[in-house]
Amino acid sequence: MREKLSLTILVAMFLSACVEKTQHEDAYDPARDYFSFANTEQFVTQHLSLDLVVDFDARELRGRATLAMRKLDSAAKDIVLDTRDLDIGNVRILLPGGESVTADYQFGDSDRIKGTPLIVGLPEAAAAATDFGLQLEYRTSPTSTALQWLPPKLTAGGKHPMVFSQSQAIHARSWVPLQDTPAVRITYGATIRTPPELLAVMSADNDPLAPRRGEYHFDMPQPIPSYLLAIAVGNIYFAPLGEQTGVYAEPELLEASVFEFADTQEMLDQAERIFGPYQWGRYDLLVLPPSFPYGGMENPRLSFITPSLLAGDRSLVSVVAHELAHSWSGNLVTNATWRDGWLNEGMTSYLESRLMEVIYGEDRVDEERVLSYQELLLDLETVPPDMQALAPRLDVGDPDDFQGTIHYSKGQLFLQYLENAFGRDEFDHFLSAYFDTFAFRTITTERFLDFLDEGLLQAESSTIGRADVEEWLFQPGLPEDAPRPSSRTLEDAKALAADWAARKIDTADIPVASWSPQAMVHFINSLPADLPNDRLAELDEGLGFSDTRNAEIGRTWFIQVAKRRFTPAYEKLERHLNRFGRGRLIFPVYLALAENGKDLELARAMFAKARATYHPLTDARIARALETARTGS
Ligand SMILES: [Zn+2]
Repeated sequence: MREKLSLTILVAMFLSACVEKTQHEDAYDPARDYFSFANTEQFVTQHLSLDLVVDFDARELRGRATLAMRKLDSAAKDIVLDTRDLDIGNVRILLPGGESVTADYQFGDSDRIKGTPLIVGLPEAAAAATDFGLQLEYRTSPTSTALQWLPPKLTAGGKHPMVFSQSQAIHARSWVPLQDTPAVRITYGATIRTPPELLAVMSADNDPLAPRRGEYHFDMPQPIPSYLLAIAVGNIYFAPLGEQTGVYAEPELLEASVFEFADTQEMLDQAERIFGPYQWGRYDLLVLPPSFPYGGMENPRLSFITPSLLAGDRSLVSVVAHELAHSWSGNLVTNATWRDGWLNEGMTSYLESRLMEVIYGEDRVDEERVLSYQELLLDLETVPPDMQALAPRLDVGDPDDFQGTIHYSKGQLFLQYLENAFGRDEFDHFLSAYFDTFAFRTITTERFLDFLDEGLLQAESSTIGRADVEEWLFQPGLPEDAPRPSSRTLEDAKALAADWAARKIDTADIPVASWSPQAMVHFINSLPADLPNDRLAELDEGLGFSDTRNAEIGRTWFIQVAKRRFTPAYEKLERHLNRFGRGRLIFPVYLALAENGKDLELARAMFAKARATYHPLTDARIARALETARTGS
């Protein structure tokens, strides 16, 4: 996934996690997934088969899931699956001989974050079977946390409805009853029945030429963790980008998408050259409506992407490099639990920077490294120390809230540190061996550490040892010898911000035409805190920040507008909040309004008007933050 959350909410989340932190005090096991009810040590799923009807009127998926199960513990009698708000009908066990028997089931106690365990008793007739099928008839709830049902008016075309999923971190259980933990990998197949004029796509073998007929078949022959299950249905069309790559989008967005993501095939070719073979066949993008909650989601073979990247100048495509890089780190080698999330996100952020460097050059990637480093430094000021380790203790809270810059940016910096220590050639060699050794497996931080130790740290020439690495993995903050990214072009932008504020140069003399959007972001963030509103007005008039087409510049500007209470731009700030639904672009703007001491009620009023267009995950996150925000004195 590509999203680093704003920090303040993380802090609130961590603090509430600390309060709850008594339940597992004694026997914390870093390898255990505390966010799943599934008894995976007794039963493990090997294949999932779905047959589902997509009902836009009822806002539900309904049909059948069949799980191919293997019993690991001969004494085990109950299978526990993860569910959230699923209505379960008939449950049957399919025996190896072809017979099937009805199974009893019951729900366990619900948990606000984890959902509800479904406990299926194995009938007597199945007691001796090691391999069997578990078939469940079910329907989803209209409020499924994974699914957003968009009425036609919230799509680009305005004529057809759309639905799409977001399963990471623990939302697959709200559209399929299953063992919802990254520790279990499954292959899957699906038949999806839709209104005939719409197209269904999944994180599977999409056929770009599939005729529209209201019934679509999918096969995913490579084993994936449940958080990579994905579906979207809508008025979606395909256009090729390269030999193996293409883009799906509503027809209204297709041309712009083809232009913006034209470098995708080259990214894939370069990624193969550096990290080893791409193992998934095709790589396509699906550009979703604005309410898609994240920058991108690395659903295998078909990354889901926010339309906020359509800046018209390819300046925001690092998100595509990121999602593509997940085809190695995350999708191929997967974190065993959400506590090891840096193995997915830190590694991917590092690979992303390598791809950006080879395609767009060092200046561009230096800029992106510095911006991400600065977000990290801000986070380190507020995140409680015990949550600053790359692999902290994580047994309470909501894994969705655990995606701060620690996993992304500190993880990236750690890998940069290893590259610096061993040299790029040797480190690339290590990475290829890592992807090769653990392909289609899930691993813990401890296993990574052992592999690194054997592969690099123990070499006689190594200048760093296991203790240095353990400091990164298990200690707060940054080690003293951590890399410090720098960017010549961002330094220039910062110096110009100071000169302009001191009236040494005029607005017209700021060389914005030669700047990247990243330099512009840095310029805005470098403006002195005490700048009066008339000077902000001058800047906005001269450089047109409030009307920018670039979502990242808009985000940065409107955060400052809210923090500084630059009220003349509030109307356009509200337009920004209505135009985008991606959490990164709007959440910190709401938060800045809520925390400027005057505008909490205004933030709540703007949210009340806009929230119908937001995704359930984004909506819940903003609602929570605005509820708990304190009114200024
Ligand atoms: Zn990611």
